Amino acid sequence: MLVNKKIFLLALSMVLILSVGLLGCTTEEPASQDQTSETETEQGQQENRKEDEGVSNAGEGLHIATSFSILADIVQNIIGERGQVEYVVPIGEEPHEYEPVPSDFKTISDADVFYVNGLDLEQWLEKVVSNVTDTEMVSVSEGVTTISLVGEDGTDPHAWLNPKHVITYVEIITEDLIARDPAGEEIYRQNSEQYIAQLKELDAWIEEQVAAIPEDHRVIVISENAFKYFGERYGLQTEGIWELNSHEEGTPQQIARVVDLVKAQGIPAVFVETTVDQRYMQRVAQETGVDIAGEVYTDAVGPAGSGAETYIDLMKHNVTVFAEGLTP
Ligand SMILES: [Zn+2]
Repeated sequence: MLVNKKIFLLALSMVLILSVGLLGCTTEEPASQDQTSETETEQGQQENRKEDEGVSNAGEGLHIATSFSILADIVQNIIGERGQVEYVVPIGEEPHEYEPVPSDFKTISDADVFYVNGLDLEQWLEKVVSNVTDTEMVSVSEGVTTISLVGEDGTDPHAWLNPKHVITYVEIITEDLIARDPAGEEIYRQNSEQYIAQLKELDAWIEEQVAAIPEDHRVIVISENAFKYFGERYGLQTEGIWELNSHEEGTPQQIARVVDLVKAQGIPAVFVETTVDQRYMQRVAQETGVDIAGEVYTDAVGPAGSGAETYIDLMKHNVTVFAEGLTP
């Protein structure tokens, strides 16, 4: 696996050196952005582009690339009609282990700035990108009080699952957009204020929903232990079969630990994510007799028609699924 990855990265670097060479011969005018749009085949990117059709021909405004779809939605709320936002990891895939395709690097190279979550979420991408593009990469999680992984070294990257931390993301993005496009300051600040107000409303709403769950049922059992920031904010215990999608997933020992825990604590429901292999949690459900109460979104927004197409809607969806599953 590691060897395959190395070969893949080597091949990718070669493609990239070639494409950067080509870019160097042409211009980086907005016209090249339209070309990118035509050659992209990822469904998620097509969907994302649809929202931006209103500005895609304007040839003005900032072109923003983000690593994953949740971050693209957050940026979209701040930039509004004044620029375009694209993301790299397609909806339905998770950003930890994603393997970029050459068109992703064109997306990043063509952008004015590349926003990433940081906290080692996209470590694979940062390494490659730093060698192949001049596009500045900005981590939007600077200043967030981080939570360590459980039982191993490292930081949990899923800070966005606490809306309070997303407010930090918004503040960093807003200042960065203003620095790049000072003429848009008023618009960015206005959009940012409105969005922060919505995030505060979301935060208060989640508090109410969690308060209605019986105290001894406030526990989230999930495949990847991604809800630590959420659990810390709202007072829920969080347990994953595994810690991070980029680590070993679903070993017999990991499954046995969660099965024992669910039985010992009398946990009424378990959950699965949209972006992971659900067979491991199905094993937990079978061995404990506890139902999988629903699907939640952690690392990507939902597809069109899911009701979870935005960050705020995916959080509402998740909390509704948790509350229904954990309340008798
Ligand atoms: Zn994750």
